[in-house]
Amino acid sequence: MSYEVRYSDSAKGRGLFSKTKLLCDTTILEEDPLVSCQFQWNAAYQYLACDHCLRPLETAQENATRLTGKMVELPHPECCCTDKSRFSSCPSCGLQYCSTECREEAYNQYHRILCTQTTDKNSSHPLEQLNEAWKQLHYPPETSTIFLVVRLLARILQAPNREAAIAQTLQFCHHTVNEDADLAHKLLGEKFAGQLSLLHNLLVAAVPHEGIEQFLTFEGFQSLLALIGTNGQGLGTSAISQWVKNTGTLPISQEERENLDSFVDNLYIQMDSNVGEFLNNEGVALYALQSACNHSCSPNAEPRFEHNNHRLSLVATRDIEEGEEIFISYLDECILGRSRHSRRKELVSNYLFECHCSKCEAEADEPDVTSEEDDDAEESMEDSS
Ligand SMILES: [Zn+2]
Ligand SMILES: [Zn+2]
Ligand SMILES: [Zn+2]
Repeated sequence: MSYEVRYSDSAKGRGLFSKTKLLCDTTILEEDPLVSCQFQWNAAYQYLACDHCLRPLETAQENATRLTGKMVELPHPECCCTDKSRFSSCPSCGLQYCSTECREEAYNQYHRILCTQTTDKNSSHPLEQLNEAWKQLHYPPETSTIFLVVRLLARILQAPNREAAIAQTLQFCHHTVNEDADLAHKLLGEKFAGQLSLLHNLLVAAVPHEGIEQFLTFEGFQSLLALIGTNGQGLGTSAISQWVKNTGTLPISQEERENLDSFVDNLYIQMDSNVGEFLNNEGVALYALQSACNHSCSPNAEPRFEHNNHRLSLVATRDIEEGEEIFISYLDECILGRSRHSRRKELVSNYLFECHCSKCEAEADEPDVTSEEDDDAEESMEDSS
């Protein structure tokens, strides 16, 4: 193995370290999540994905047609990866999976307990009530889902070794009660923080209690929300982007390539004008190894989803020396590009730590500019240009 998890002095906790020299673009590791889940609104708006691994259930052509809002005829249909002959659905509740393997894995890991065993959406089912309540509190763009908590709990209940499953879950929880409360409020947003007990009551009504009582108290519930807020990794899959990627390797002439490129450019313009940023099947997942990876504002690795499902690839984004710590960024591109002060403010409020990464240390003498002032600075630059 090219990596190990051990104590990190800089993070005062676990960290992921390279055990060999790794070249840029090397896949350091690949892992399936403990649990993953599509976002509620994403699913409600017919972004069809496997209920277990989020692999697209539309063909690239269907995907392009839905996202542009008009009939699209895609050339090179052989570049589409969606294989409908492999699809499988839960015989009791009808949930759709990309394969028998996914259906069985879901059933054996968490779905046996969560299967609502009804083909028509029964709105009085506690899980359906929880779904509706969450959707009302969490409009797009979505960043998390309470169903990751639900699956995590069901996974513990179904685990052959419950003690081990609980210990594995607790590994992710390392905040105090007050910190958990802050993070849970943050996850819901200030406006909805008062709805925490509503969600808690619905969750308690939706899952069996025996063996997971510690997670079903109000404090236990807050710590699970804090867990998914600080460890949840966003993920996206797309039939159309997979198709585009595959067309890149077609043995075609220069002229055909240029035609194809302009077709794709035009397709993305049409999709953008119809659905904006909402192109992908989107969800969130919890990974054992990736979550051991600490943050840096100047990361040397990034998570990617190269299999077009929830399997995560951690890829080196520059050469990494033997023994060096592997860092990813917890901030999105946009915030990562901002001032030291803005980055650190974001990390403190969402992850409760003061960043001492190499970039933040190197910029320690910079004045503390807030993100609002960053925005103003950008605006005045645009005005003057
Ligand atoms: Zn699947
Ligand atoms: Zn089912
Ligand atoms: Zn930093």
